[in-house]
Amino acid sequence: NEKLEYIKSKIGTFPDFPKKGIVFRDIFTALRDPTACRYLKEVLVQEVKQRYPNAEIIVGLESRGFLFNLLIATELGIGCAPVRKKGKLPGDLISVEYVLEYGKDIFEMQANAIKPGQKVIIVDDLLATGGSLKAAIELVRKAGGDVIGGIVVMELKDLRGRDKIDCDVHTLIKY
Ligand code: 5GP
Repeated sequence: NEKLEYIKSKIGTFPDFPKKGIVFRDIFTALRDPTACRYLKEVLVQEVKQRYPNAEIIVGLESRGFLFNLLIATELGIGCAPVRKKGKLPGDLISVEYVLEYGKDIFEMQANAIKPGQKVIIVDDLLATGGSLKAAIELVRKAGGDVIGGIVVMELKDLRGRDKIDCDVHTLIKY
């Protein structure tokens, strides 16, 4: 796919960020380029329409997932909701604890963000170990949502994050 090749050519690569041994793939580098922005929107919308035509709401993961959830939602004519780190959202919340490489963190959603049985898709910029996506899926299910799939712009294949995920996940660009 020419559009994906183009986007990939614009993604930044930063060795040893945020710490030694990690190769950070930076989507913001690509977003400086207007053509990459347009292609990314077009491909994301096309893939979601094709794969998840019955989606009723799209959930974005803090914070780069937010770049894409509103974009996709408006094109599909559905709503969107955020999953955020603890302490950022007001009102009644549901939460899930998840394990990081060092220590733990908590994801939260607003308790009424998702209606029981609603068909949900989840979006983020990158799938690494899969811990974040797995926790988000758990949270949406806790809220009563039916997770029909996930979509990420980039996937770090060697980390096998996909193995942790028990629903369909589509990736645009693999490393
Ligand atoms: P995971 O939970 O799958 O290990 O990590 C995925 C989460 O960490 C995503 O929310 C993603 O934004 C962030 N992340 C981890 N590594 C990278 C990276 O190389 N580039 C970017 N853009 N985000 C990363």
